[in-house]
Amino acid sequence: MKKGKVYLIGAGPGDPGLLTTKAREILARADVIVYDRLIARQILRGLPKRIVKVYVGKRSGNHSIPGQDAIPRILVTNAEKGRLVVRLKGGDPFLFGRGGEEVQKLREAGVDFEVVPGITSALAVPAYAGIPVTHRKYASSVAIVTGHEDPSKSKRVDWKKLATAVDTIIILMGIHNLQAILQSLVEGGCNAETPVAIVERGTTKHQRVTVGTVRTMTVQAVERRIEPPAIIVVGDVVNLQKELSWFKS
Ligand code: SAH
Repeated sequence: MKKGKVYLIGAGPGDPGLLTTKAREILARADVIVYDRLIARQILRGLPKRIVKVYVGKRSGNHSIPGQDAIPRILVTNAEKGRLVVRLKGGDPFLFGRGGEEVQKLREAGVDFEVVPGITSALAVPAYAGIPVTHRKYASSVAIVTGHEDPSKSKRVDWKKLATAVDTIIILMGIHNLQAILQSLVEGGCNAETPVAIVERGTTKHQRVTVGTVRTMTVQAVERRIEPPAIIVVGDVVNLQKELSWFKS
C-alpha cells in the first residue's frame, strides 16, 4: 500500500493571497484536509470536490467537533490508510498553534510528515495596519507572546521582565486579559504613554485598527467592543501607523 504522509501547513493570516505557493500546490493534491477556525473560506472553496475536509476548530457548545486531543488520531488514522493528509492551521503552524505537539504525536506514531511554514498574523497583521515591527530609529527588538495563559497547561509569560526587555511587544490571544496585561507592563516599568494598537481581523475586509496608549487602551477596547481575533502591538513603532497606513478594508 502507498505510504501516507501528513503535511502541517500554515494558511497565512486571513487574506487568501498570503498562502504560499508550496501550500497551494500540496492542498490541490491532498486526500484529506483537517482545518481550524481562522482559515479563510476562499482557500478551501477553490479546492477539488474529491478532497475530504474535516473541521476541527473550537466552537463552544458544538459537540460534533472533535476535541484537540482527537486531532492527532485523525491525522494518524488517515495517514496509515495511505492518504495524503493536510493539517491546515492559521498563520504559521509552529507559532501558538500546537503544531509542535501535533508533530510530536506523528513522530511517536511513526507517521511521515513535512512542515510548510506560513505567514504569521504576528507580523502580517501589523504590516496590514501600517506598523513595521522594527525600525532603525524606533525598535531593534521584538517579542511575540501569548496573552492567553492557562497556568495548568503552558509556560507563563513574565510580563514584568518583558516590559523593559524589548522595543516592540506583539501579543496574540490577549483581548480577554487586556487590562491585566497592560497593568503588568506598567508595573514592570513600561511608560503608560507608550503607544498601543489593536488590530482586529487583520488582512481581511473586516480589518479594524484602534490606536491609543497603555493607559487608554483598556477603556477604548470596551468602548469599541474589540473582539478576537486581534493582535495587540505595544511600542513606539505604533506611532508610524498614522503615516504608513495603506490597507483599505
Ligand atoms: N499560528 C497563528 C496564531 C494562532 S493563535 C499565526 O501564526 O498567526 C490565534 C491568535 O492569532 C488570535 O487569537 C489572534 O491573536 C491572532 N490572529 C490570527 N489571525 C488574526 C487576524 N487575521 N487578525 C488579528 N489577529 C489574528
